[in-house]
Amino acid sequence: MHTMKKSRGARPLAMALTFACAFATVISDTASAEGRPAKELFGGMALPAKAAPSPYGSYAKGCIAGAVAIPTDGPTWQAMRLSRNRRWGHPEMIALLERFSKDAVQLGWGSGILIGDISQPRGGPMLSGHASHQIGLDADIWFTPKPANPLSAQQREDLPFTSMLEKDKFLTVDKRLWTNTHARVVVQAASYPQVERIFVNPAIKKKLCDTWTGDRAVLGKIRPIYGHDAHFHIRMRCPEGAAGCKPQAAVPPGDGCDQSLAWWFTKEPWAAPKKDPNAKPAPKPRAMQIADLPKACAMVLDAQGPSSEYEVTYQAAGGSMPGSAASAFTAPSVARVAEPFELPAIVPVPPARPAGW
Ligand SMILES: [Zn+2]
Repeated sequence: MHTMKKSRGARPLAMALTFACAFATVISDTASAEGRPAKELFGGMALPAKAAPSPYGSYAKGCIAGAVAIPTDGPTWQAMRLSRNRRWGHPEMIALLERFSKDAVQLGWGSGILIGDISQPRGGPMLSGHASHQIGLDADIWFTPKPANPLSAQQREDLPFTSMLEKDKFLTVDKRLWTNTHARVVVQAASYPQVERIFVNPAIKKKLCDTWTGDRAVLGKIRPIYGHDAHFHIRMRCPEGAAGCKPQAAVPPGDGCDQSLAWWFTKEPWAAPKKDPNAKPAPKPRAMQIADLPKACAMVLDAQGPSSEYEVTYQAAGGSMPGSAASAFTAPSVARVAEPFELPAIVPVPPARPAGW
């Protein structure tokens, strides 16, 4: 009787120990991550979390499990700046880019699109550049079409950005560079129902407002913002059933060619913030920590990855991808070019933005 009781008691203890050990592992992993900015942890991931595709959190504060890579080269696209390892997204995002690249060619956009940053393999904050692009549902597209001769990996590091604006004028599109095809390509990107917003420079938005003769409703999705003069930004809405994805407010009705655009042509967005000479110096903003992100992001960071990049590279329907063999491609070690997507220091972000941004 006594021995039986003992053996019955031993099993839960053994189980408890197993749990305790597992728990200790989790705690130690979390402890080692503590204090390190989330951008370092997410920026260091080479491959995605192997899981069903799930964005967690919002575009500027979140992460993604189950991201897939767009092949570095496709029939109608090339991914740029490969060394950044930011060609990862929700499979719906990658599928959309493939579709858009074909539609762009139909519109006369060279031999396809040049794709800038999408997200890091597990999303999350980045060491450089964007505040958003964190959940695999944002992608940057160059205002430069893919040339007929494919760019080499090195050329994709080095190719300079071409701004669509006149250098010496305030918020003015350069007529020598901007064409109807540019307009059609941007509007095409906005026309897909799963696309919620397109971000362009205010000068480009104004150009579209002044010249677009087609459906005006779709123009409302095209939103003015700083930068975005050498590339435009496609933002998809949260995919169906993605419970962890935090949606943005809907774009206001109308074409957006209104006060919210006129505001950009005032001094306010471009003025230096007023300083109170008596104010204490503001504390240095604390870098975003894992604990600031949705809880699931700690798991996304710890989750197992796939055995190879190839396994998680998107395979376009029915197509052999000239570059998918390039899954074995190793990003060249080259000096990074200057961050093109960062806001220049002389352009402070104003405290208030018009609604709907
Ligand atoms: Zn972007």
